[in-house]
Amino acid sequence: MGKALIIGCGGVAGVAIHKCCQNSDVFEEICIASRTKSKCDALKEKLKGSKTKIKTAEVNADNVEELIALINDFQPDVVLNLALPYQDLTIMDACLATKTNYVDTANYEPLDTAKFEYKWQWAYREKFKEAGITALLGSGFDPGVTGVFSAYAMKHYFDEIHYIDILDCNAGDHGYPFATNFNPEINIREVSANGSYWENGTWVETRPMEIKRVYNFPEIGEKDMYLLHHEELESLGLNIKGIKRIRFFMTFGQSYLTHLKCLENVGMTSIEPIEYEGKQIVPLQFLKAVLPDPASLGPRTVGKTNIGCIFRGIKDGKEKTYYVYNVCDHQECYKEVGSQAISYTTGVPAMIGAMMLMKGIWKGPGVFNIEEFDPDPFMDALNQWGLPWKESFDPELVE
Ligand code: NDP
Repeated sequence: MGKALIIGCGGVAGVAIHKCCQNSDVFEEICIASRTKSKCDALKEKLKGSKTKIKTAEVNADNVEELIALINDFQPDVVLNLALPYQDLTIMDACLATKTNYVDTANYEPLDTAKFEYKWQWAYREKFKEAGITALLGSGFDPGVTGVFSAYAMKHYFDEIHYIDILDCNAGDHGYPFATNFNPEINIREVSANGSYWENGTWVETRPMEIKRVYNFPEIGEKDMYLLHHEELESLGLNIKGIKRIRFFMTFGQSYLTHLKCLENVGMTSIEPIEYEGKQIVPLQFLKAVLPDPASLGPRTVGKTNIGCIFRGIKDGKEKTYYVYNVCDHQECYKEVGSQAISYTTGVPAMIGAMMLMKGIWKGPGVFNIEEFDPDPFMDALNQWGLPWKESFDPELVE
């Protein structure tokens, strides 16, 4: 069917690329391009024998001209951005210049401020419309599948959704005292920021980890979870009709939190550069360098994840509750694609999002969040490509 250029070759990209190769009718040819080309070549070698033709390239995705040259050379139908949130705008600029569709899994974040906002990418709406190309923002799990779940609930079960609680539980154990399951810099920026939720049209801010709840997760059991700010709250608050409140909770174990507090207290999570032996270094980037590489956690991680959304609202004048979630097993993911469930649950929807554009199932010029498209084909694809979902109409609610 077509060609995809995949930028980045880390944990998430590794899964998405495996999945593209399993889906070679759609992804006839891919180019894996990243800062460190040797990682792209190693993955290509691992996937030798796949029907999908694989090319590799070195690219600095902070450089628009390099990206344009790469896109012009490879001529992809879609660019799948699986580098870091800092590269979103340069990659979008290159897509605009070459009139190529764009997909990512995380919203743009400036390097010097930990701020999760869509405003920078939404500012590209008119330009993408004029160029006749599509940008699909946030095609991971959260954001991503959580938006698809919301659109699905709205389409099939509700006239109005009043409350959404997104619950992200990772009950995996990697055996290290402290490690992060995806890029440590992005992960620590996310969890050490203030929390917030959307209520009655405004943001309510909380201190980091201020709001704690205990939830009994299906197939996992009771876990402590904490309210965080999360990027999909911003788009879902606007795109879901009738919404009064939307919150995001993530589970953390006590050991993770104690280590994080300690690292924060000594200044290791700061993103302010400091001078060390005549060189400017960012403490958080240094910390990333000494922590285990998330890609190395795969073989050691056991247990499951459960990520889903609980909706409360009205259907035909009656109150209604609906819970839809996916349970994923770390070791099964590792057996299939060689990585743990956090990368898996992000990489599979990234491949599916790219497939939706490549097949023309989702189309239209402009910049879109995932919940703006018809959820049904994506929900079917989740079942087909390794993230089957389950539903309940009588779930435990979060106080
Ligand atoms: P990794 O750090 O494992 O991988 C990032 C990759 O991007 C690396 O290959 C890195 O190259 C490459 N890269 C970084 N900077 C550049 C650059 N300037 N030019 C070219 N390549 C570059 O991260 P993850 O795979 O864990 O995460 C990937 C993305 O997925 C992130 O944006 C993250 O926020 C997002 N994510 C989304 C989730 C969701 O559910 N929506 C969940 C988890 C992650 P190098 O190898 O040289 O370092």
